[in-house]
Amino acid sequence: MNEIKKCSICGKNIDIIYKIPFCGLIGMKDYYEEKIGYCSNCSFLFNANPFSGDDLEKRYKYLSKYEFDEEKINFIEKQDYVIRSNIQKHFIEENCKEKINSVFEIGAASGYNLSLYKKEGKKVFGIEPSNYNKETSKKNYDIEIYADTFENYLKEKKVQDKFDLIFLSHILEHIVNPMEFIEKVKKFANKYIFIDVPTFDYKFSDENFGMFSDEHVNYFTFASLQNLMYKSGFHLINARIEFYLNCYVAAGTPAIMTLWKIDDENIKYEKKKIIDNTIDNVRRYIEDSENILNEIRKKIDEIKDDEKLAIWGAGNHTSRLLAMTNLKNKNIVRIYDSDVKKQGKEILNIKISNFKKEDIELGIVDKIIISSYSSEKAICNSIENIIPKNKIIKLYNL
Ligand SMILES: [Zn+2]
Repeated sequence: MNEIKKCSICGKNIDIIYKIPFCGLIGMKDYYEEKIGYCSNCSFLFNANPFSGDDLEKRYKYLSKYEFDEEKINFIEKQDYVIRSNIQKHFIEENCKEKINSVFEIGAASGYNLSLYKKEGKKVFGIEPSNYNKETSKKNYDIEIYADTFENYLKEKKVQDKFDLIFLSHILEHIVNPMEFIEKVKKFANKYIFIDVPTFDYKFSDENFGMFSDEHVNYFTFASLQNLMYKSGFHLINARIEFYLNCYVAAGTPAIMTLWKIDDENIKYEKKKIIDNTIDNVRRYIEDSENILNEIRKKIDEIKDDEKLAIWGAGNHTSRLLAMTNLKNKNIVRIYDSDVKKQGKEILNIKISNFKKEDIELGIVDKIIISSYSSEKAICNSIENIIPKNKIIKLYNL
């Protein structure tokens, strides 16, 4: 893991403004401290000691949010994805003045998004590391997907086709060195690039430090995104903050939807000036997260040390609690997660398993702590009628 010392947009030295520890990230190291780097010249905020590309690829290959369960007989598109794709398409239609005949999507997931454009007779092509998604996109939408990484596609592809629209939805926040990435992507660009990323421009007070998910390496604002794109030779057509209130994820919302066009060489394009300051927003977010975390620490300290505890949730949220609170010193006997891809893997030498009500009935587990912000309500709803309410510890009371 090499610490990044310089800004990938402007090359100047960066500052480390905060450190966030994680413990027990599945498929990664036992202990990991994320260093939040900031370039005051570009307002660019990012993870200055990210996992290597190989590490992240491995993690995505089995934890991909868009990987659908193969056991499912009937294929059902995730509603969040359907809603988001349609909102994005509407924004693109509103803002592309020139006709689009071809679309290239990096991170094409199940192919649903591309299918919306294919229906209109546009040429579409997608890249998506998951083999399963390649099969389903062919089967459900007759869409060809290159089932590997963009890097490998570049190596393999000798002649580069150009596309009228390059589609990057929730991709850029995952890319170490986004400047280099956009420059590579530009080779395929004929006219427009659409970019949708989580933004720090406007943030809910929600899951403490939820924005700093270990999967995200860049934390954009409108200011830093403009700096990146103008330097890469694109100018802004339009931008909009989208709250996606129907498909809520603490690490991914609100998001900023943006449309860019390749610069005409003889025109000088002006950036939009922003009064608000990225670093002030981030500092307020960190302060808010620390306050929420302090309340959680109190709740965890109230748990008796000999009480047999199950943690429900094997994600980032739990990794941060294990590293930032006394949770790991408690008597943890089970870790539950309903995600089949996590089951069987280990955290603190405990195998992740599906919840069993017998654990409570037989006294193997005294209490279950729900370690999730976005799923707290859903998890509680699913067990409140099965086990006594006083067996459940909620951290947020949503
Ligand atoms: Zn910079």
